Amino acid sequence: MISMQILGGFQEYGKNCFLIEHLETSTRIMLDCGVQNGQPEVYPPLTPEIAQSVDAVFLSHVHNDHVGALPLLADNGYEGEIWLSEASYAQIGPIQQRWRQKSAAPYQAAAVDTLNFTPFSPATKGQKIHITNDLSFEWGHSGHMLGSVWYIVHLGDASLFYSGDMVLDSVTFQTEAPAQSSFQLAIIDSGHGGQVTSRQKSEQALLKALENPDRCYQIPVSLSGKACDLILTVYKRFPDRQLFLEPALREHLSDCLSYAANLHTGMKEQLTNLLADGRIACITSNQASVSGIYFTNRRLEDMKIIPIDSPAHPEFFYKAHPDLKDVEKLLGGIQAEQLVFFHSRPKDFTKLIAHIPKELILNGGVYQ
Ligand SMILES: [Zn+2]
Ligand SMILES: [Zn+2]
Repeated sequence: MISMQILGGFQEYGKNCFLIEHLETSTRIMLDCGVQNGQPEVYPPLTPEIAQSVDAVFLSHVHNDHVGALPLLADNGYEGEIWLSEASYAQIGPIQQRWRQKSAAPYQAAAVDTLNFTPFSPATKGQKIHITNDLSFEWGHSGHMLGSVWYIVHLGDASLFYSGDMVLDSVTFQTEAPAQSSFQLAIIDSGHGGQVTSRQKSEQALLKALENPDRCYQIPVSLSGKACDLILTVYKRFPDRQLFLEPALREHLSDCLSYAANLHTGMKEQLTNLLADGRIACITSNQASVSGIYFTNRRLEDMKIIPIDSPAHPEFFYKAHPDLKDVEKLLGGIQAEQLVFFHSRPKDFTKLIAHIPKELILNGGVYQ
């Protein structure tokens, strides 16, 4: 039997962190270890008792709401392995640098250097990776960003599915269905589960809003699958326009080329062409006078900002998590005695629960 303690990420959009125990073998794992973004950041309630009892940590991807509390976990005494994909591991250096420099952090900076990352290679996809006699796992791509994965974790005789953050229809990244369909526990991203969105409609609204070739437009994005998708879409739609990228974002696109198995077929070539194209440039200052389309979270002057994340402009909303239709599709292939929907704000969670057919849950399992 497995039990779960949710340390964050349930009925909230942030600090995703789940503690799972297989009771018969006392095997304990942690799925993600994030903070709630904001000023100040909010950490999950990690204690020395929790940190020192965990046998292994699994990271779905490197966004702050999934990894930001790792230094606090280490500061509380966790010395074990932190499993993540090679593509995620390749992005961890600058993140560790930020952790070391964080002012008012609830951990000592030295804890950052004790983190014991254990990357698994692309070649291990779909294979069972054994950690102990009672603990093994499999992984597949989850489509949310470079390196993002889902996990099937086997604990003793039980198994669970953890979707991590998931996108079923990314322009850039692969999403694979898990080979196994029946689980004791499934923890599923339902970040946009309170709505039905159309990627096509959002793209149309966005591209229409960018129509004037003489203007400066800004699309506010951070390092994410969403950013890669939007850059590729805009690049293809406007073959005469200049695109300006935050240098870290350009670097990120270039990193994607090293992990072609993470990309859709043909996407490596498209990205290679884009990066070699003279009409793609880096943003070098906050004064952007050349007309074009700017991809950055920086404050730039004289920009028309396209609000892709604003509730006031639902027409531009571009999903980076499953919406209601995606959750239903996921549940078509996954059944679990206990089903947990995470990453939804309370309002979205309530709407989602009202729509999910109860028969999708086996053995009288409960929604949490
Ligand atoms: Zn994410
Ligand atoms: Zn997330």
